[in-house]
Amino acid sequence: MKSCFISDNIPPVCRKFTCVTVLLFICLQLSAQDYTTIKAKNGDGIYSVLKQNGYAPNEYLNEFVELNQSKLGKNNALIIGRQYRLPLKKDSVATVVNSKVLPEVSSRKVGKKVAYEVFGPKYREITEKSKELSGAVYYLASGHGGPDPGAIGILEGHQLCEDEYAYDVTLRLARNLIERGATVYMIIRDPNDGIRDEPFLKPDRDEVCYPNSVIPLSQLARLRQSTNAVNNLHVRNKGKFERHVVIHVDSRSKKENIDVFFYYDHGSNTGKRLANTLMKTFMQKYAIHQPNRGYEGSVSERNLYVIKNAVVPSVFIELGNINHTRDQKRFIISDNRQAVSNWLRDGLIEDYKKSVK
Ligand SMILES: [Zn+2]
Repeated sequence: MKSCFISDNIPPVCRKFTCVTVLLFICLQLSAQDYTTIKAKNGDGIYSVLKQNGYAPNEYLNEFVELNQSKLGKNNALIIGRQYRLPLKKDSVATVVNSKVLPEVSSRKVGKKVAYEVFGPKYREITEKSKELSGAVYYLASGHGGPDPGAIGILEGHQLCEDEYAYDVTLRLARNLIERGATVYMIIRDPNDGIRDEPFLKPDRDEVCYPNSVIPLSQLARLRQSTNAVNNLHVRNKGKFERHVVIHVDSRSKKENIDVFFYYDHGSNTGKRLANTLMKTFMQKYAIHQPNRGYEGSVSERNLYVIKNAVVPSVFIELGNINHTRDQKRFIISDNRQAVSNWLRDGLIEDYKKSVK
């Protein structure tokens, strides 16, 4: 079974499909425009400067060093007051197949309600229930999609594909957050699967990445694509309260009894607090709704590409084990998928309240 995790210890991969395009573009850019420059302030390092300017640090670190070689101090330290060139962004050119930028989730007014086609015919209409999250921006990314179904479990002869179940919970969460006044971007989107109530969600391969890009097969290219989508949107939403929520299901051995796990990136205090707040919410909900069940989830630091390279506070959530019988029940019953998304909403509201007060 393929694991959905990816660490940073990946050898650099040549993106052959875009090499020529990117090189051409860079050449044109070099002759047509100058680099953007920044002035180093006290406390700045290459990593933080790249992050602040919407770059995935691991992607651009070497290029930054090459561009600014002569101006760097010992161990590539930035020198306060010096001007540094920022690399040209490659992926904004390489991955946006269709340059037409879609609104967060396309909507139109229906009376007092707003209709969002992404949620499908049954759930498309939303009535705002409160303004609790007005001002908050969420980037919701369900795991895998397109040519990659993620982990696959089998139940009663049906294939349970991770990407479909993660997507359904993510959609339900998106709807919950919009009901509370938030702005939501679905980073992975399926053009024709709305919220589905049936137990067995039919696998397909037509998901796209924001704004409307074909999802590549290569794991690294796929992770890079969704991370860049978030980072590009961050530039548009700078200064707002933002959270990046990544939702997976995953597979482990059949025997392993797993629960909901929350991961944050090393060094991200906001991500850590977010993960802890979500876990506490789950503990409280289990205590109320299933007091004898016990909750075995946890919060931990983890080296994962999408949360390391996103410039927005991020949490990576594993909803359970798609190969475990008990967890399978959590996924195939639509009320359970709804409950999980309600609890995530409540945890995110708690996180928002803590952050803005
Ligand atoms: Zn996964």
